[in-house]
Amino acid sequence: MLYNTHMIAGLLATESYLVLTGYELKTENIPEICIAMALTLVFSTMPDADQRQSWAGKRFFPLSLILSILGVAHRGLTHSLLFTLVVWYLLTLTPLSDVLVLSAVIAYASHWFIDMFNVTGIQILYPLQMKFKFGTNIDVDGFGEVLFRNICLGLLALITFIWVKPYITDIGIIENLKFFFRFFSI
Ligand SMILES: [Zn+2]
Repeated sequence: MLYNTHMIAGLLATESYLVLTGYELKTENIPEICIAMALTLVFSTMPDADQRQSWAGKRFFPLSLILSILGVAHRGLTHSLLFTLVVWYLLTLTPLSDVLVLSAVIAYASHWFIDMFNVTGIQILYPLQMKFKFGTNIDVDGFGEVLFRNICLGLLALITFIWVKPYITDIGIIENLKFFFRFFSI
């Protein structure tokens, strides 16, 4: 999948986690929510640092250079459960809160999860070499990916609306919808 698909799917995964765990959209939580979203954009694209010439490869320099020197193959180590656990462990050593650590890990896992919708598949059980995929065989940057990205975008808009709605004063459904469209028209 392309980096923009990964970012949207990552935001959908992180926001779903926050909403489903009852994380409140209170004013004092806004900074942490913003950091969670920023971490999501970074960690949802990071696994593709294993491809030096890709969008992520250029942005995650020198990590991409190190992976290339070590001979790490695309959709191998960085797309595995093992590496996800390493990332999780390293994040727990930082001053980040549990919510932020989990947001980053969920974003990271969302990357290899949606890569399994592609034709190529991923080595999720690396160092085992076998590749896993869902059998949906979506081509990278093809019609299937555009459709997939737009479905994720629609779900992201829906879950954001569900999250934001209780905090809108009871001003009627039309006013709520107006707020919703204004919220996304930036
Ligand atoms: Zn990938």
